[in-house]
Amino acid sequence: MSIFRCAACGRINRIKAVNSSDGTAKCGQCKAALDTSGKPQEVNAAEFKRAIRNAPVPVLLDVWAPWCGPCRMVAPVLEEIGKERAGELMILKVNSDENQQLSSSLRVSGIPTMLLFREGKERARQSGAMPKANLNAWLRAQGA
Ligand SMILES: [Zn+2]
Repeated sequence: MSIFRCAACGRINRIKAVNSSDGTAKCGQCKAALDTSGKPQEVNAAEFKRAIRNAPVPVLLDVWAPWCGPCRMVAPVLEEIGKERAGELMILKVNSDENQQLSSSLRVSGIPTMLLFREGKERARQSGAMPKANLNAWLRAQGA
């Protein structure tokens, strides 16, 4: 079972076998084509809250901003991890400039900050850019 968030409506979809979906998987709610690549998705505060509430897989949230150099360094790393773990780990991105209320309610003081959620609750967080191997090791240490 693989889990994918619909970028169009936010619905969390369960897909039986991603390999047999040949890119034509559709959202069960809005019927939009489902992105099953595992690429990180940009969300706002409401979309983020809905996703962590409904996702049966770990959700990694990257709090970032366009002007932040280390954020730009970590972005391709997150994209690679997202694609490698498509369907079993959901990676979301929140622009802290556009979602300041969410950033402060998450007590994010510096960016990038990566927060790991499970069953709607924060389980771990990591501030600052990390090489891919370190980020993967951190995720494994959290059981994600
Ligand atoms: Zn949809």
